[in-house]
Amino acid sequence: MTNLKEVVKAEEETFDIEPGMDILKVNKKLALKNRELLRKHKVKAIDVMGSIGAGKTSLIEKLVQALKKKYRIAVFKGDLTTTIDAERIGCHGVEVVAINTGRECHLDANLVARAVEKIRLEDIDLLFIENVGNLICPAEFPLGTEKRVVVVSVTEGPYMVVKHPFSFMDADVAVINKKDLAKVMKVDTKKLEMEVKEIKPDVKVVVTNALKGEGVEELVDALGL
Ligand code: MG
Ligand code: ZN
Repeated sequence: MTNLKEVVKAEEETFDIEPGMDILKVNKKLALKNRELLRKHKVKAIDVMGSIGAGKTSLIEKLVQALKKKYRIAVFKGDLTTTIDAERIGCHGVEVVAINTGRECHLDANLVARAVEKIRLEDIDLLFIENVGNLICPAEFPLGTEKRVVVVSVTEGPYMVVKHPFSFMDADVAVINKKDLAKVMKVDTKKLEMEVKEIKPDVKVVVTNALKGEGVEELVDALGL
């Protein structure tokens, strides 16, 4: 049984964009509104970004398991059309809203606002938002979360960090996942960590093996939870 609650579909939502409007500006405004609303209800929200297969869902599953006694948790799960991940997370007994973006390769503040309407903010303390699997444009669309986490996996090769500087500039925590495969992939996690710090010196870096739950405690610390 899964706790998947509702599916928000992008095709049914509009931004009310007029020609000539700056979509990033509109998004920023809506993100601030989201943040205000979440703060008012003392909900701490965390945006989890990263490519397909980096391990975002697995990490969220482990975080939910580690934290569900301490916090009342909800999860929003962004994906183009599927609800596979949303159902996976829902199996852990937390409320999940799936957000299907259709063709859009990122979540935006408008879709998050629609998803917020599906839950009772009074009933939760912590909200994880798993962004669409893509390391490029989610960085440009703040959602109104308190923190942003970027997940990369060593299986993405040695240049993952230097090729995506923008994703790390706005991040509070960077996760280097699948550390157990670093050797076979010939990837040095220490070097990746240094590259992240070069882009943003105050970002916290955590090295994990999400499937085994290794590094999850450190991640909880890094998120201040
Ligand atoms: Mg996923
Ligand atoms: Zn996109």
